[in-house]
Amino acid sequence: MILQSERPVENSPTTMSIRATRAYVDLDAIATNVRALRGVLPESTRLMAVVKADAYGHGSPWVANAALKAGASILGVATVSEGQLLRHQGVVAPIVLLGSIDVDEVEAACRAGLEITVADDELLRAIEAVARLASPDRPVAVHLKIDTGLRRYGAMPEQVSSMARQIRSDPYLRFAGLSTHFASADEPDEAFTEEQLTAFERVVAMLAEEEFPIPPRHVANSAAVLTGRSGNCEIARPGIALYGVPPSADVKLLPGMRPALRIESRITRLVPIAPGDSVGYNRTFCACRSMTGALVPIGYADGYRRALAGQSWVGIRGRRAPVLGRISMDQIVVGIPPGIEARVGDPVHVIGGEPELGAPSIAEMAEMMGTNTYEVLVGIRQRIPRVFIQSGRTVAVRTLSDAWTFD
Ligand SMILES: *Cc1c(COP(=O)(O)O)cnc(C)c1O
Repeated sequence: MILQSERPVENSPTTMSIRATRAYVDLDAIATNVRALRGVLPESTRLMAVVKADAYGHGSPWVANAALKAGASILGVATVSEGQLLRHQGVVAPIVLLGSIDVDEVEAACRAGLEITVADDELLRAIEAVARLASPDRPVAVHLKIDTGLRRYGAMPEQVSSMARQIRSDPYLRFAGLSTHFASADEPDEAFTEEQLTAFERVVAMLAEEEFPIPPRHVANSAAVLTGRSGNCEIARPGIALYGVPPSADVKLLPGMRPALRIESRITRLVPIAPGDSVGYNRTFCACRSMTGALVPIGYADGYRRALAGQSWVGIRGRRAPVLGRISMDQIVVGIPPGIEARVGDPVHVIGGEPELGAPSIAEMAEMMGTNTYEVLVGIRQRIPRVFIQSGRTVAVRTLSDAWTFD
């Protein structure tokens, strides 16, 4: 569990001894992005900030709190322990478990006051079995998820009416939501998204015909919100866009939105390289001229993937410095661009930030790694300290073993 402790004043955030390699998380960017998303949603639509996977690697609960302050009113997580962690940190906002949980976890979820998404009778029955004991004073909130084409987690439309009846008839349950999830809202051709919306609306209409009060509906991920397909529902559930990162190359962010995370390190050593020298394990890079390498303390154990060798670069004094040879577990060597006088201690921009810094963007990293922007973000390991910035000040630092907040 993360510890929160006060730090003596003389240990100012700027002099605090944390690793040279750190991820700066701009909480003002999170707030700006939340407000931008709010701006394209109807006033009455509530925003569920999806903060699963440690807020897409950015660091929950700081991101969660920043999003709540900026206008989100619900949080979305994937696992019970993610929800419990937020509760341990004092978060009182509604927290929705977006995916399936094991029946053995139901009691813990109820005790933490988490809202549970159901898609089958078995889980629903497990909730009914423990709701009265685990949460006697407050009904357990249940969201019913409908599969409209993703074929992953969701009840088939024909199961919905009986499950809805079951939820409504149990006084220890509260029917808190009706949802579905899009398969390809991040693609330019959105015909399938329309089909899914139509299928969802058909189920809603069927329930309405049975004179069911319809609980809050939610369908829209970031791509759907950004492309205006939130279906006029009562709740929207953006994730990646909160972090200022587009869901795919085909979907654009809204004006003013910006990435919240960047990784910066420092040159810890200069390495003289003579013509004919090789650099790194297995000697995959061989210098044909004399040059200077810079040692940067980041490696594949930090999530700087080994497959980036031969492709990636870092920004030094605004210029691109290519990674030389293999990526080690804890360090890389980059080639200092000709004409640049680099010194030990100089900042090295590894990922993200203003383009002038010279680092690859999250999207460029995704391209090089053959994956999506999501995996780049959640692949940033806990070993890289998170430094949380608000109004230009460091407000919190989280390392692998500890966390501090500053007032
Ligand atoms: C992760 C997730 C989201 C958020 O998706 P983004 O593409 O990051 O906006 C929304 N809904 C569900 C069910 C999810 O699992």
